[in-house]
Amino acid sequence: QKFVYDFTEGNKDLKDLLGGKGANLAEMTNLGLPVPPGFTITTEACKVYLESGTEPVALRDEVSAHLDALEKQMGKKLGQADDPLLVSVRSGAKFSMPGMMDTVLNIGLSDASVAGLAAQAGSERFAWDSYRRLIQMFGKTVLGVDGELFEEALEEAKRAKGVTTDVELDAADLKRLVEEFKGIVAKETGRDFPQEPREQMDLAVRAVFDSWNGDRAKLYRRQERIPGDLGTAVNVCSMVFGNLGPDSGTGVAFTRDPASGHQGVYGDYLQNAQGEDVVAGIRNTVPLADLERIDKASYDQLMQIMETLETHYKDLCDIEFTIERGKLWMLQTRVGKRTAGAAFRIATQLVDQGLIDEAEALQRVTGGQLAQLMFPRFDDKAKTELLGRGIAASPGAAVGKAVFDSYTAVKWSRSGEKVILIRRETNPDDLDGMIASEGILTSRGGKTSHAAVVARGMGKTCVCGAEELEVDTKRRRMTAPGGVVIEEGEVVSIDGSTGKVYLGEVPVVPSPVVEYFEGRMQADSADADELVQAVHRMMSYADGGRRLQVRANADNAEDAARARRFGAQGIGLCRTEHMFLGERREMVERLILADTEAERDEALGALLPLQKADFVELFEAMDGLPVTVRLLDPPLHEFLPDITELSVRVALAEARREPHENELRLLQAVHKLHEQNPMLGLRGVRLGLVIPGLFAMQVRAIAEAAAERATAGGDPRAEIMIPLVGTVQELEIVREEAERVIAEVEQATGTDLGLTLGTMIELPRAALTAGQIAEAAEFFSFGTNDLTQTVWGFSRDDVEASFFTAYLEKGIFGVSPFETIDKDGVGSLVRAAAEAGRATRPDLKLGVCGEHGGDPESVHFFHEVGLDYVSCSPFRIPVARLEAGRAAA
Ligand code: ADP
Ligand code: MG
Ligand code: MG
Repeated sequence: QKFVYDFTEGNKDLKDLLGGKGANLAEMTNLGLPVPPGFTITTEACKVYLESGTEPVALRDEVSAHLDALEKQMGKKLGQADDPLLVSVRSGAKFSMPGMMDTVLNIGLSDASVAGLAAQAGSERFAWDSYRRLIQMFGKTVLGVDGELFEEALEEAKRAKGVTTDVELDAADLKRLVEEFKGIVAKETGRDFPQEPREQMDLAVRAVFDSWNGDRAKLYRRQERIPGDLGTAVNVCSMVFGNLGPDSGTGVAFTRDPASGHQGVYGDYLQNAQGEDVVAGIRNTVPLADLERIDKASYDQLMQIMETLETHYKDLCDIEFTIERGKLWMLQTRVGKRTAGAAFRIATQLVDQGLIDEAEALQRVTGGQLAQLMFPRFDDKAKTELLGRGIAASPGAAVGKAVFDSYTAVKWSRSGEKVILIRRETNPDDLDGMIASEGILTSRGGKTSHAAVVARGMGKTCVCGAEELEVDTKRRRMTAPGGVVIEEGEVVSIDGSTGKVYLGEVPVVPSPVVEYFEGRMQADSADADELVQAVHRMMSYADGGRRLQVRANADNAEDAARARRFGAQGIGLCRTEHMFLGERREMVERLILADTEAERDEALGALLPLQKADFVELFEAMDGLPVTVRLLDPPLHEFLPDITELSVRVALAEARREPHENELRLLQAVHKLHEQNPMLGLRGVRLGLVIPGLFAMQVRAIAEAAAERATAGGDPRAEIMIPLVGTVQELEIVREEAERVIAEVEQATGTDLGLTLGTMIELPRAALTAGQIAEAAEFFSFGTNDLTQTVWGFSRDDVEASFFTAYLEKGIFGVSPFETIDKDGVGSLVRAAAEAGRATRPDLKLGVCGEHGGDPESVHFFHEVGLDYVSCSPFRIPVARLEAGRAAA
């Protein structure tokens, strides 16, 4: 097994092994682009280290061999006193992870070699600047010294000299600072800053390995659903210097605008600077376009390279580069993060450019991004008080109470408050605060600042670099121009699409994408913007290719109509329990309290016309499309008053000697129906079997409604679904009764309704005996909520509050199984039941209702298992359509 790859040996498809950064450095090297030579230590080496606690035995020799080769190529040795080779040690996992260890630059510098570097470069100042940077970065990230200590010393040096930026410090100042930094390291760690170059390198490599299991990295992985066992690669890259004077510098660039997708020159550049300076916001960067004026040759070459990269990767790329005395070096590229809107635009732009086809375009967007685009926006007609504006870094309309530190953000959000995290700038320590917030506002930093990059990745609203807002984190307040002061706890609204910051709560309006789905805007009309056009095109690619149908969970005509506009191909779940609430509750009470058959029939008879009217409306709204109606599912006590309340009422009435005969009867009924585990009690098909006439009434209502629609010239397509079946016998009994009722209605109305009867598969026993159940069912609908509940033995209503957080923290699962289907457990039951059902009845229709039907990852799974449709709430339909299309592409 080979643990080290030279940059010339890898390529972009080796991300698993070389990490994203290493794979792309290799790709650029092989494209002939100017990349400083170096090598990558594989994720496999990291995994061995993480598992065993020590580096693999072969690693040391392999690194030595590659270092030798690098030294030969560069004509100098690592840390060589008269002319030191310096390297950076850079982390780089398969997925870019802002929570991981920072890079350490200038490794190889020491007391012995700093003069050699100065002599070679002809600059004392440069050499000492590089050295102080090394001690600072190494001290913080490798030795774990509090970074603030170095920052404070640096600030103090500037203050003492009466200057504001680090470039104004001269060689002598920096030399003093180096001494001070070394003192800090010695004091904080009890050992001297390591002077031996190879030891520096080895310690840094190990620190990168360790950073994989840092708290922030783990948190980020959980958020982004990145598996915990991938490990990180480590890149050792020979240094090039942007801090050699005004003819040097460093920058970041995008091949297109990551916010709009438009082609053009996007990026930031900073003269006489190294590495992180650009994104850290310590000095003001200039727009990339200014580089043309500063260094035309490098600028032209960079433009050329950007074009090469975009054509090569066929996607938006982001880039890190450094110019060393007029020579351009490429330090990183990757397919860049982008906003949801830009993802849709870019995908269609690339199709138009002929770079990708429609199927590939579908892989460039996600249902999650589409969901983001459907969020409401601020109403531009609302009266607002503008506090200031910054850079629109990540879109969305966020409203919340101002908080000025991550701790408070987390604390307040736990107690149910919506918060906006306001910082001067964010760093990886703010990650949990950012997650807890509705949106993030910073007063410093550009589109490539930490806040912007992380927020875009998480789909959080972010406004950054709002320089006119003065943020005082110590006093927990922000001051806007004109002197308006916003204290902690005051409500602010931030618009990540325009960069505007408002005082108070600004009302929101539907997004144009929703207006489009609602049919209130034509994609080719004048008011439709590029975004709506792009969404329209992507939806048509998805619809053109998908095999899975998408239905809606809806139980009234209004939802059904919306679902239809959103592209639903029917109703997959119409819950009838909502039809038993409100003023009808009294009738249900009468049904439950009925002592005699006559009383019961009367109660049912009163409910029948109401149910029927509901169905008529629904069948009309869904005319021509299937409507799956589920017979009553929840336990009856849910329709009765609360037991405590009722007891109090009875007791009061007794005390006052008022008549309370009805209350007493009700109370007795409530007692009788009381269950320890109602979810496992008298509900679903069990109700139908023990309450005579209940299911018959519902079936009659469905059949009569269908007959009425058919007679009126409509095309009703009802499907009757029996919930909570565990054995085929239950289904057979209900089926017999239902068929009798349907035949009666058909005969009386002279219709042929073509009603089908099926069942939910939501108990493990049903899944395990699906082959038998299919004998009595024309369709299965997997009720994955209950199935998850019963397969895991989790009470859905309780576990999320009680121990899921602990489970997520311990990594037992990366995401709640109620949100994304548990493929290995619940999913394998679904797969087996689908197969067994189809073996019995080849034309068995298979669908899913329940939350998972609208969850992107689950949709892919259901596609793969071969189901016919998923059903989800109306607003999730576009997401499900898109994901079904992506799954098939
Ligand atoms: P991150 O993943 O946080 O971007 P990087 O490894 O890309 O970390 O490095 C941080 C900064 O240091 C970047 O600006 C990068 O361009 C710069 N850098 C990394 N390696 C070198 C090098 N060999 N020479 C000059 N600058 C470097
Ligand atoms: Mg980088
Ligand atoms: Mg259920």
